[in-house]
Amino acid sequence: MYVKRIVRSLFNIITWAWFLIHGTFSAHAFVFSQNVRDRVYVIEAPLVYKVLNPVAGDSLGFTLPFVGVAYINKQAVQDADTPLPGVISHEAKHIEQFWQLGIHHFGIEKWKLEGMAEYVRGDSTISLCASGVEGLHDRIKYRDYHIAVKYLIEVEGLSEDQIYNYSDYPLGVASDWINAEICKKA
Ligand SMILES: [Zn+2]
Repeated sequence: MYVKRIVRSLFNIITWAWFLIHGTFSAHAFVFSQNVRDRVYVIEAPLVYKVLNPVAGDSLGFTLPFVGVAYINKQAVQDADTPLPGVISHEAKHIEQFWQLGIHHFGIEKWKLEGMAEYVRGDSTISLCASGVEGLHDRIKYRDYHIAVKYLIEVEGLSEDQIYNYSDYPLGVASDWINAEICKKA
């Protein structure tokens, strides 16, 4: 009984501390940010990143729903050997998506949201033209999402809104296009 109460109190304290930390970042962004990129905080220490999001795994960054802040795991970005400004662009796009889409955000397929963020990033952790790729499953998936969105924008001429309302995931035709038109010429 006594132990239970202590555990519950500890849990409450940790939960409140966690909200307080994110609230502080959010307030900081509210006061000091001049553009959406300023709302993306680059976290130096991997342990701090883990505290901010215990389920973030080996991600390069994450965006909190609606509160207008995002975090980047600087160590993971360095390990992935990918430029930091691009990852900041990716997370900044997610902040805008929450603002633009509101509650509809949760009904939109992941390939559209992540593909758009990768398109704004201008690259993916795994190159669009890499053949026989090996690597983390998520990073291959994000590369594919990027190819699909790039195809819809540059070939089909769709706007961002039209992509969020699009039905199919056009990876097959988009991959053929990337290989024939972009990768062969590079
Ligand atoms: Zn993302």
